Amino acid sequence: MKNVIVVGGGASGIFAAVKAREMGARVTLMEKNNRLGKKMLITGKGRCNITNAGTLDDFIANIPGNGPFLYSAFSLLSNQDTMDFFHRLGVPTKVERGDRVFPVSDRSADVVEALKTYLQKIGVSCKYHLTVESLAISQGVMKGVDTAHGFFSADAVIVATGGASYPGTGSTGDGYQMARQAGHTIVPLKPSLVPLETVEPWVKELQGLTLKNVKVTAWADGKILSSEFGEMLFTHFGVSGPVILSLSKVITASLDQHPRSPVQVIIDLKPALSFEQLDQRLQRDFQKYSRKYLANSFTDLLPKSLIPVFVQLLPISGDKFVHQITKEERGQIIKGLKEFTVTIKKPRPLAEAIVTSGGVSVKEINPKTMESKRVKGLFFAGEVLDIDGFTGGYNLQAAFSTGFAAGKAAAE
Ligand SMILES: Cc1cc2nc3c(=O)[nH]c(=O)nc-3n(C[C@H](O)[C@H](O)[C@H](O)COP(=O)(O)OP(=O)(O)OC[C@H]3O[C@@H](n4cnc5c(N)ncnc54)[C@H](O)[C@@H]3O)c2cc1C
Repeated sequence: MKNVIVVGGGASGIFAAVKAREMGARVTLMEKNNRLGKKMLITGKGRCNITNAGTLDDFIANIPGNGPFLYSAFSLLSNQDTMDFFHRLGVPTKVERGDRVFPVSDRSADVVEALKTYLQKIGVSCKYHLTVESLAISQGVMKGVDTAHGFFSADAVIVATGGASYPGTGSTGDGYQMARQAGHTIVPLKPSLVPLETVEPWVKELQGLTLKNVKVTAWADGKILSSEFGEMLFTHFGVSGPVILSLSKVITASLDQHPRSPVQVIIDLKPALSFEQLDQRLQRDFQKYSRKYLANSFTDLLPKSLIPVFVQLLPISGDKFVHQITKEERGQIIKGLKEFTVTIKKPRPLAEAIVTSGGVSVKEINPKTMESKRVKGLFFAGEVLDIDGFTGGYNLQAAFSTGFAAGKAAAE
């Protein structure tokens, strides 16, 4: 019987332990926290966007950079396999907008609890409050791990320690050190899916404001970097929310490559209306509010908290009477609605990123087995690898599939 140690009880570590045990190995899962899946609990705003119902090609496209590395892992455990597995565990799933898959209960705690119960049922030994400090390697072969509670021997070790973002969940980047120890290259770590700081101080006044159904376009050097439609949020430092997180990857890449070229984020507050339609709409509102000041005429058009900032940014005084607004000024107002702009200063730190970009170079990993090409019996799975996807369930599926592949190969 093979003796397998899994380091880390997150998404990838749990799937690695499940598969290795199902294959007949003796499996010990070591987790530094006092519970499993602390990060999984906060995924999808506590609802856990388990996977995506899209095609394999959708998956590869939504994992920019090293997506193709995952073809084998995704064919071993596909999104459908993942959904079937959760159904068998008593966690039925549903598909929402953008093919995002969630548990029907909308509770990530149900997902983690079901996994924990299954690990117990199949006989995986889960050790909590146990931090793995280093790997024990002899002549290129894995021998075990060193922990705060001494040495544990193993035929195979699966490092599933996660990335370096949201360190409060336990993902403090320990696996990178272990990988270095084994002679692996670590592709520099960067925040991915991260909120952005803006130059404009007035964002503070909009803190907590969510804009739904807006079109957001990132521009640099007069060129469009990317464009997204959906929901965004203002914070005390800048902007966040799904659309911003999705755009953050291209924006941070642009700022890295061309630090002197500012990136502007242009928000179309009324994407469903053309310039002409918006003009007609404004004229109707202005008839209704003709005796009011301009500053008091946007109540039907904009969220309340946005109005003072919007008016302040217009080249027209908010104290002007609506009936005095000229056609040209209406054009300026429409421009403001279609091109509400913030300038990006920098991304928030790695600790605040949803996912860590960079990590163990996949060039040094066998894509079929997740085994290290440097050390026999050493495997890597999940976010510790140089893999990061967009929002939509791609990151958890990548963790599940790489964990599954590693668990299978480690037990063989
Ligand atoms: C706020 C937030 C929301 C997210 N929402 C989604 C979503 O809805 N859908 C999606 O697909 N992705 C989402 N993600 C990303 C997703 O959670 C991660 O990509 C995924 O959890 C990575 O899995 P992992 O197993 O590699 O790492 P983790 O889940 O981070 O697990 C690593 C585990 O290893 C343990 N560990 C670390 N070092 C050691 C050590 N030395 N010894 C022992 N144990 C150790 C940690 O305590 C941790 O439990 C979200 C991320 C965040 C931060």
